[in-house]
Amino acid sequence: MILVMKADLPPDSPELDRVRQLAESYGLSTQVHRIQGATRSLTEVYLLGPTGVVPTAPFEEFESVERVVRITEKFRSIGRHGGGVEAVGFEYNGVHLSQDSFHLIPGLCAVDTRENVDEMFAALQRCGIEMTRAGAYKPRTSPYDFQGLGAACLPYVFELAGKYGIRIIAMEITRESQIGEIRQALRESGDATGVMIQIGTRNAQNFELLKAAGQQREMPVLFKRGMGITLEESLNACEYVASSGNHRILFCLRGMKTNLGDPHRNFVDVAHVPVVKRLTRLPVCVDPSHSVGRRAAAPDGLLDIFHVTAQGVIAGANAVLVDFHPHPEDALCDGPQALRLDELERYLEDVQIVRAAYEERLKRIARPLKEL
Ligand code: PEP
Ligand code: MN
Repeated sequence: MILVMKADLPPDSPELDRVRQLAESYGLSTQVHRIQGATRSLTEVYLLGPTGVVPTAPFEEFESVERVVRITEKFRSIGRHGGGVEAVGFEYNGVHLSQDSFHLIPGLCAVDTRENVDEMFAALQRCGIEMTRAGAYKPRTSPYDFQGLGAACLPYVFELAGKYGIRIIAMEITRESQIGEIRQALRESGDATGVMIQIGTRNAQNFELLKAAGQQREMPVLFKRGMGITLEESLNACEYVASSGNHRILFCLRGMKTNLGDPHRNFVDVAHVPVVKRLTRLPVCVDPSHSVGRRAAAPDGLLDIFHVTAQGVIAGANAVLVDFHPHPEDALCDGPQALRLDELERYLEDVQIVRAAYEERLKRIARPLKEL
């Protein structure tokens, strides 16, 4: 059961304690979640345990309780529960992410040299972009491939992020101890930037790693769907992060592993953007680079990566995670799918055209759900 409290309830409100005491008198435990949105804060109290026999009326009587939502669906923490809970999104390091917002996350698949990080971040600043990706820990298919520079590169990555006004870096982790390494390096940089912990597709069902990412609430989590499991299995896996305590999650579609997608690296799954928005409260990201995996161009003069980006954005994606590299031919990881920095402005312009078209669709074509 979820108690949605009235907006802007102070964290020290005595009503919160009273609500919790009542829940405990029914043998339930409670978790309080505060969600800081762009304009207001929202508090939800999760009642955990055998809630089936607990009446809602005593909770509805509290002045500060807006409504009581019985959880009927399986995605207890990330689900929408028939519209009973709002998809308010979250705020991190001054950036708001929700099912209404839109952000580009262009950057390096893997950090290789300080110079390349500098060039990459400088280009982002010129385009007014505040989010990026930068891999320090890379899970690779072959043990002989470059596995990332690890903790050694974090000091200069964070320093340069601060210098160029980057607010959030999506950074994949492959084991729990890396969370501590990232946290320590952030502190040592004077919190020059923020990090969004990325769970890669290969770890989508690494439940212990998911719990670790969920137990820390300092950094949000970018969760990539599993490449060989159903969407439902991926959402259940993502639920591990939220049920461990961290609800600040960006859900990322990155394509499915099957030869049916050939000649793309993965079968593009942007059709699931509206599906994930309907089933969950999470903002949805698309990753055209790992879906397409190559610099192929269509006869119309647009790269497949541009086309797939557009397909995700026109479907309402809230973020696009995309590989760029100052010198893709020298990249130590995923060079063949990286766009060049001299393509960044054109890419941004294309994305702006398509996002505006999506917003126009909402204004002119969309109808209230009850009419559909
Ligand atoms: C990545 O984003 O660098 C990555 C490894 O992606 P995925 O986990 O989707 O393969
Ligand atoms: Mn990659």
